[in-house]
Amino acid sequence: MDNIQTLKTNAKTLGLIQTRNTLEKLIHTAESEEQSYTAFLDNVFSSEIKYRQDKAQEKRIKEAGFPYPKYLKDFDLGFCKSITKKQFNQLSELTWIEGVYNLILSGPPGVGKTHLAIALAYHACEHGYKASYTTMQSLMQCLRTEEIDRRSRVKINRIKKSHLLVIDEVGYLPITAAEGNLFFQLISELQEQTSIIITTNKGFEEWAEFLDDPALATAILDRLSYQCDRIKMSGKSYRLENRKSFLKGDNKDNVQ
Ligand code: ADP
Ligand code: MG
Repeated sequence: MDNIQTLKTNAKTLGLIQTRNTLEKLIHTAESEEQSYTAFLDNVFSSEIKYRQDKAQEKRIKEAGFPYPKYLKDFDLGFCKSITKKQFNQLSELTWIEGVYNLILSGPPGVGKTHLAIALAYHACEHGYKASYTTMQSLMQCLRTEEIDRRSRVKINRIKKSHLLVIDEVGYLPITAAEGNLFFQLISELQEQTSIIITTNKGFEEWAEFLDDPALATAILDRLSYQCDRIKMSGKSYRLENRKSFLKGDNKDNVQ
């Protein structure tokens, strides 16, 4: 075994995967730049750390369970009049996650609730926070089947260990009394431990209706709103305003 091979084997034994994969390049750079021992070691350690951080970030994003990626940079504040630039910047700074604040985004379809929620959670993953995404419907399914289904249990456990949980589409479908109670228990457990972003088409006054229990709705909202900002996102649907079509041709009169 030549020296390089021995070094690679040792790097692998030590779990230094990036060092093993880029050993020749690291040595070549060191030689061509006449690096000091200190500079060389610094390069080796820095590239290993960067590799691990990138891997961990990739894993956080994958495990968050986003249905698709959305980014803050693509969120058009000119279109969304309900959020000021200052508020948007404050949300992007993520200190609210440190303070375990919640965020409720309410409004009609197409105004960007899901986009903003996913983009904030994605951004949080990029900055070292553990985030989880779920729709309300899928959350209910997991809470109902946690005892008997391993995948549901894994998802709920992950949610409980997250810094940030996105619950998308709250209020779209009515939920049963048993589900309402499970939801209440989860929210209570996450309180002061996990930030929650809720997107909903319902105003607070309508929560009693879809939960079919005014007392429970009050209890849940009480916990959610303790440390919470609520953004009412009004306006037109971005989808309708920016509708894309695929039909091409001269006769446009019959295509709407
Ligand atoms: P909602 O969850 O409120 O129904 P979405 O977040 O799903 O709406 O938005 C619908 C579509 O419009 C998505 O493709 C989203 O990326 C886009 N969209 C909505 N608002 C904005 C915005 N302010 N800037 C850029 N894209 C937007
Ligand atoms: Mg949505």
